[in-house]
Amino acid sequence: MFKKYPNNVLAAEDFNVKIKQGEFIYVIGPSGAGKSTFIKMMYREERPTSGEVTVNDYELQKMKNSEVPYLRRELGIVFQDFKLLSKLTVFENVAYALQVIEKEPDFIETRVNYVLDLVGLKHKAASFPNELSGGEQQRISIARAIANKPEIVIADEPTGNLDPDTASGIMEILERINSEGTTIVMATHNSQIVDEYTHRVLEIDGGKIVRDQPEGGFFQDE
Ligand code: ADP
Ligand code: ADP
Repeated sequence: MFKKYPNNVLAAEDFNVKIKQGEFIYVIGPSGAGKSTFIKMMYREERPTSGEVTVNDYELQKMKNSEVPYLRRELGIVFQDFKLLSKLTVFENVAYALQVIEKEPDFIETRVNYVLDLVGLKHKAASFPNELSGGEQQRISIARAIANKPEIVIADEPTGNLDPDTASGIMEILERINSEGTTIVMATHNSQIVDEYTHRVLEIDGGKIVRDQPEGGFFQDE
């Protein structure tokens, strides 16, 4: 698969990657390497210029815009900047993800309480995002991402704005979600995290895959 932006930047050159169900994979590399581009292609925010991107049996290079919501229902997406809705409470932020896919109110109530409990923030259900720390906001965004039991969680720099202890707390939650069978794809700059919570490492540099290692560290020779 190749991705060239309209300005002729080749952000993905001859990528050939297969991620198995249940895997935890880091996407690492310097700024501008192509990590976000790779991540965005997984949820059809970007399309490949040539080649194929298949996620949960959807062929994304062929997918119509009108079909994208069906793909996204099967994914949980976590961003560096959380992207919570500031006018909604914590409970409502998570519930909203289920309301838009027309889940029953009783189911929503139960499920939102369950995922808030899972991230340790049930007691903050009535708070607003700006009343929470960065780490708490990220935990809420993870709760929102997993509310619909996605098979895959895609996280673009989820610990990027967090201090090391808080980042570890986020990792513990992602590890737990992964241990229950959810695939995790995580772009990160965080070498400590990659070295401490060891998983497959896909290293990108200049739009090329330079390493794909089953139990890699952040640096190649570790
Ligand atoms: P990373 O996430 O590793 O920092 P990106 O995937 O954001 O890297 O970017 C890879 C390359 O593609 C960079 O050279 C970047 O400037 C370029 N790029 C990213 N998005 C766009 C875009 N929408 N239009 C043009 N070039 C882009
Ligand atoms: P991050 O590194 O936080 O993932 P980026 O800086 O890569 O974010 O990208 C932020 C936005 O700007 C994205 O929508 C991306 O597609 C766009 N973008 C990044 N680089 C370029 C570029 N060189 N030209 C045009 N758009 C770009």
